Amino acid sequence: MHGGPGPGSIVAVLEDRALVLNRSWAPITTTSVRRALVLVVRGAAGVVHPETFRVHSWDEWVGAPAEAPEVPRPPPRLHGFSLSVRVPEVIALREYDGYPVRQVAFTRRNVYRRDAFTCQYCGERPGVEHLTIDHVMPRSRGGGSSWENCVTACRRCNARKANRLAEELDLVLSRPPVAPRWPGGLDPASVRARPLWQRFLPASAVAIGA
Ligand SMILES: [Zn+2]
Repeated sequence: MHGGPGPGSIVAVLEDRALVLNRSWAPITTTSVRRALVLVVRGAAGVVHPETFRVHSWDEWVGAPAEAPEVPRPPPRLHGFSLSVRVPEVIALREYDGYPVRQVAFTRRNVYRRDAFTCQYCGERPGVEHLTIDHVMPRSRGGGSSWENCVTACRRCNARKANRLAEELDLVLSRPPVAPRWPGGLDPASVRARPLWQRFLPASAVAIGA
């Protein structure tokens, strides 16, 4: 091989990234394919099949035949071998269950993104220039500017609600506003580039980061 690691070289493949899920299948970070393979060989993680979402041990992943324990095994030998194995794109840790979270910046744009640019009262999507931020508990009544008190509203609903509570007008929020949780070890740009990874993220996180 000449001219350094190209896109198909083994170095490039091993340095590519794999998504790491915790024991509960929440994505927590990415790691190199090299490190992912080590974790799987050691049994600390399983490979998640991108199509079936089944978790495979190393032996299953490389298609090794099941060992028959009653057959006497020959002494171990080292010899040349070649191995062709599908590169793991997602692995699931067997023990770790933490979920390091990164704060998502509280901005007007990110509130719109969390709410999918949709009015949370009437369900309309009038376009970003016609959207406003509504304070669920109005500021005039002490409501603050936070993820939990701010929602996307179209101009009409916001004007109608004004300084009142939604209940006073029979307006119903389509879902309670929450602060999005973005996995601490994940770079949004890399998630954008990998549609497969997005399937493992909560929808609110994908809306913000991808
Ligand atoms: Zn509306």
